[in-house]
Amino acid sequence: MAKVKRRSPFHALITTMLSVRSRDGVTHRVAARLLKEAPTPEDLCRMPLKEVEKILRPLGFYRQKARNIKEAACRIISEYSGQVPDTLEELLKFRGVGRKVANIVLYNAFGKPAVGVDTHVFRIVKDRWGLLPDAKEPEEVERFLMENLPKNMWGKANRYIVAFGQAICKPVRPQCDTCPLRKECPYPHRSSDQI
Ligand code: SF4
Repeated sequence: MAKVKRRSPFHALITTMLSVRSRDGVTHRVAARLLKEAPTPEDLCRMPLKEVEKILRPLGFYRQKARNIKEAACRIISEYSGQVPDTLEELLKFRGVGRKVANIVLYNAFGKPAVGVDTHVFRIVKDRWGLLPDAKEPEEVERFLMENLPKNMWGKANRYIVAFGQAICKPVRPQCDTCPLRKECPYPHRSSDQI
């Protein structure tokens, strides 16, 4: 897999906040347009809410996201001297930032070891690989991966498992017939067109 280019912390934060419950392709298009118009926290804080909403319209929950990213931009200026904070505790103080978003930003923007658990990571680790069948919260999977993976794999785990979940171990019709993990995986392997 190609080496991941580190993004500026502000761009990583905004793009990741926008990605929640939205498809990757739309998120990247919308984020690129927004960050072209408002590349810095100052620009985004100054941008009228209606204008932010207009750009974010193709995304789910766009009004809520517009309010949250604008508020985050203004707080980055007023409370963090214009710099996105680089700790989980501080990132979690922004409205619209949960553990998944915060951990992805910590890894993508700051190169810190952190495991982002999204729906792909949660369902594959818990149900498909059967590693934590009773897990109720993403935080349990996050803890499990941190305890069982070397630290230098924590950040990459999200990227690899998400890509695997999108291409092979899909939520519907997983490609078990051609999956390289078929021998190790405990999931019942019916032919993928029967699943
Ligand atoms: S064998 Fe099937 S269920 Fe198991 S990891 Fe591969 S695609 Fe997923």
